[in-house]
Amino acid sequence: MKILIENYGCELNKAEMNALTAALNGIDIETTRDTKDKDLDGVIINTCSVRGSAEERVYGRIGYWNGIKKKNKKFMLIITGCMADRLGDDLKQKYKGITAVVKNNDKLSIPLLIKENSFDSEMSHETYTFAKYYAAKGDLNAYIPIMNGCNNFCSYCIVPYVRGREVSRSKDDIINEVMHQDKLGAHLITLLGQNVNSYAYKDENGVKTDFNTLVKLIDALPLKNIKSIRFESPHPKDFSNELITTIKNSKHFSHHFHIPVQSGSTRILELMNRRYTREEVIGLFKRIKEAIPDATFSMDLMVGFPTETKQEFNETLILVKEVNPLDAFMYYWNKREGTKAAEMTVGVIAESQRIERLETLIAFQRANALHIKRDRIGMERLVIVQKASRDNPNEMLGFDINTLEGVVFEAKNLKVGTLLKVRLESIVGSTYKATILEEL
Ligand code: SF4
Repeated sequence: MKILIENYGCELNKAEMNALTAALNGIDIETTRDTKDKDLDGVIINTCSVRGSAEERVYGRIGYWNGIKKKNKKFMLIITGCMADRLGDDLKQKYKGITAVVKNNDKLSIPLLIKENSFDSEMSHETYTFAKYYAAKGDLNAYIPIMNGCNNFCSYCIVPYVRGREVSRSKDDIINEVMHQDKLGAHLITLLGQNVNSYAYKDENGVKTDFNTLVKLIDALPLKNIKSIRFESPHPKDFSNELITTIKNSKHFSHHFHIPVQSGSTRILELMNRRYTREEVIGLFKRIKEAIPDATFSMDLMVGFPTETKQEFNETLILVKEVNPLDAFMYYWNKREGTKAAEMTVGVIAESQRIERLETLIAFQRANALHIKRDRIGMERLVIVQKASRDNPNEMLGFDINTLEGVVFEAKNLKVGTLLKVRLESIVGSTYKATILEEL
């Protein structure tokens, strides 16, 4: 039996698909990611609900496979992920060819469903269950989920409605996976969760582990290959001084921090239900920088939230100027059915204006980052080899193991995943050109 896996959305979805793939392979079900494969017995579509556009894309794919199912009654069309949680059996009503709609909590039961052909059985696990391993061998950045769900209910976000409340993975299982990845040769791992710094695990004896303790436990492990440990995403409101001190004193944790700021306006942050002010989030960056002078940052920024004024948008630009992130994931607000912000009917900004603000922000952030990047020329950095350059056969591409910035260097046949020490020599666009100093 061969099953196609189509995956959409966030790193957690990717990690879960890795785990699901391994489980399917473990019961001798062949899997492929090749959508052109003609020899298929079914498809699993792991969906994303974060944006309407993500759902639209998936609808197109379901429609396509629904057509295949009409010609081949035995074909399995399994829908899982956040659209399965959000829409449930409505999907089945719309596409009669769907074999099963499987919610996130039940995702890892899919191999059993296929094996036993028990798609009609009602199944809904109360809580999310974690797999033993998520990261696949050879992942250049091995993502290790530490929690699922979110309790924050930011007004624009669908996650708490589709992934439910926070559930923390057992600390022993996390440690086991970190050690497993180290043995497999991973150089970089990322601890993953919607709100990692509210990690709170309680074992069977009632002993609690918070995120700060988890970081200390992982840092104390006898790691041989892992050189950098990141986490994403931390919530600014939960970023304690203790955590900053722990990272400062750590051996393995990266000094690059990805912080989802979202807006530079306190009024907009309040409407977003982010529960911090502009001053508090700027204060967080200052606290980190004071404790860890070589700290660098990236951030998530959203523009065009309903009622955002030009002045409030400018406050986001000024925040970028003050904090100087190396990179940012920037996007404009879009109505997401089911969220609080979708109920805001007054003050919705025209899409053309939202796009304009986004373009202004992107240009501003990139120009600002260029100054900081230029200051980094001459630095020695650790880089992971990613692929051969398409433009120049004498060059290969990689990324900085801490900041994830792109780096290009003269090389031909280095193995993907090799760790290099390089010196940054110049910058073209947003990519550094570097000289290899040492292969590690
Ligand atoms: S913290 Fe806010 S934005 Fe992030 S997942 Fe939770 S609700 Fe969504």
